[in-house]
Amino acid sequence: MLCPEWLEKALRKVRRSGELIEPTEEVKGEEIVIGEITDERLKILYTLNKRLYAEVQSILQEEEPSHFHDPVHDPASCQGCIFICRLLQAIIKSNAVSKLLWVSFTDGLSEDETLWLIRTGRAPNIRKGWKIVACPVEEVVQSQLLQEFLTSVWQMPNQRMPN
Ligand SMILES: [Zn+2]
Repeated sequence: MLCPEWLEKALRKVRRSGELIEPTEEVKGEEIVIGEITDERLKILYTLNKRLYAEVQSILQEEEPSHFHDPVHDPASCQGCIFICRLLQAIIKSNAVSKLLWVSFTDGLSEDETLWLIRTGRAPNIRKGWKIVACPVEEVVQSQLLQEFLTSVWQMPNQRMPN
């Protein structure tokens, strides 16, 4: 596999565990099933995304250790700084995998499907049984995937490669 080491390790760990986290939300009445995820790699990525998200939530539940009083203290020996560093690393990885999942997931949609989604004000999402659904935008405002979708749609013309 050609991907960064941390990602490869994380993906391998999910695959070795043999435990996939499946979407639990049922298809709702107003949603239209447009496909199904069959690619094992996407299921592993979905599981990793869920695990990383849970890890961030779990760190956020911990009590933040206090910092040393000296504002220019050495972060390496400060439990407060170590905690912030651990939290940031978890958030950065979680965001990265979430975006990667989004790109991989929408890459499977045809141009016609994507245009239909935009025209009808719908966004794709994943439901129980790995079903891909098109749901009305207002129904999934809290969805991470939807946020990624809207961001990518609306920012497309202005997007720049990072320097
Ligand atoms: Zn500190």
